[in-house]
Amino acid sequence: SKRKDAASFVVIGHVDHGKSTLMGRLLYDLKVIDQRSIDKLRKEATNIGKSSFALAWVMDSTSEERERGVTVDIATNYFETEKTKFTILDAPGHRDFIPNMIAGASQADFAVLVIDASTNSFESGLRGQTKEHALLVRSMGVQRLIIAVNKMDLAGWSQDRFIEIEQQMSAFLTSAGFQAKNITFIPCAGLTGENIVRKVTKDKMPWYTGHTLVEELEGSEPAKRAIEQPLRLSIADVFRGGITNPLSVSGRVDAGSLQVGEQIIAMPSGEKAHIKGIEVDQEPAEWAVAGQIATLHLTGIDEAHLRIGDIICSSANPIKNTKAFTTKLLAFEHVMPMYVDVHRGRLHVPGKITQMLAVLDKSSGEVTKKKPRVVQPGSVARVRVELETAIPLEAPGRIVLRNQGQTVAAGLLESAE
Ligand code: GDP
Repeated sequence: SKRKDAASFVVIGHVDHGKSTLMGRLLYDLKVIDQRSIDKLRKEATNIGKSSFALAWVMDSTSEERERGVTVDIATNYFETEKTKFTILDAPGHRDFIPNMIAGASQADFAVLVIDASTNSFESGLRGQTKEHALLVRSMGVQRLIIAVNKMDLAGWSQDRFIEIEQQMSAFLTSAGFQAKNITFIPCAGLTGENIVRKVTKDKMPWYTGHTLVEELEGSEPAKRAIEQPLRLSIADVFRGGITNPLSVSGRVDAGSLQVGEQIIAMPSGEKAHIKGIEVDQEPAEWAVAGQIATLHLTGIDEAHLRIGDIICSSANPIKNTKAFTTKLLAFEHVMPMYVDVHRGRLHVPGKITQMLAVLDKSSGEVTKKKPRVVQPGSVARVRVELETAIPLEAPGRIVLRNQGQTVAAGLLESAE
């Protein structure tokens, strides 16, 4: 049988714009979750007087979080349509969800940006996280964006409002480096389900004839994948799988390929192991390639040498451990010599910006100013960063610099030392 396409995405957007509800609706209408679970959630929600929260709760993990009425951390979610197996890679609604989003975005083929179309909400989102999230996923290498213009029911299903949002967002997104052909806008309502899986009826939006969200998801070409490059798999989970498979890791194959019987090397530990078995989509497989999420059963290595965020590499060409690097970054806050947490995927270590090398022109990348004292938010710059401990890093890897829970900058690694 033909393997379905695989695609992974993150869901981003300002808090309360409807990310969790929209994903809950998507999974519900695709029948990934059943009516009984929804009814149960709805009953619980009504009991505490927040009935509209039922759909968002689909994404929740514990009842304690339900009682507080917030949506938190989801594990990686899988679902499939006729054509494609999808992975949702993030944790909408999480209090400090930027680190999760970074981890997700570094592996995503595309992003779904949820925007609340109702009066003033879109505008306050622009001053809030709408732009920050879009810039962040762009700097993590995401090229394709599906924009769910959500809560159209609250905007009177208005075409004028939709066009207004589309125009403003298009101008911003293209200036942020997205190509117009890679952005699509869909007017929808996650709460009631219009244009998520089910097409909106003519009485509401006679002016819209485009795709539903799920059609657009299916039509999104997975990002070009680096199958020819040396193997890199970032570990998302380590677990003991029982007697037959004593030690297993799972994660996305970021580059290259791997097969059963092969020897790999885990970095930063540098320890070697053998691949005893592989699973892709919960089924045994002989091999896996870039873009797929795989589970590897390993022998000849101790659990102590495998941690979340580590990288499984081809033993012929492993990634190097790095203690300092230069990066071209996009500043979200003022950047100056300062302490920062350096995030690469799920891994983060303390470090500091030691040298301010140059301010660069946004589009040409040419040096406009050497040795700046400080870089303004919104500017692009080249800086040198030193790490407290060496971690596996290589160009053109994506990193994010954070300080006290704030995202300071996102960058592209230029050279590792
Ligand atoms: P998140 O913080 O982005 O995950 O937002 P939630 O999914 O928690 O939604 C925030 C609030 O908006 C909740 O009260 C939802 O019921 C409500 N909401 C979400 N989508 C819609 C929609 O399409 N229409 C309306 N009227 N309300 C919505």
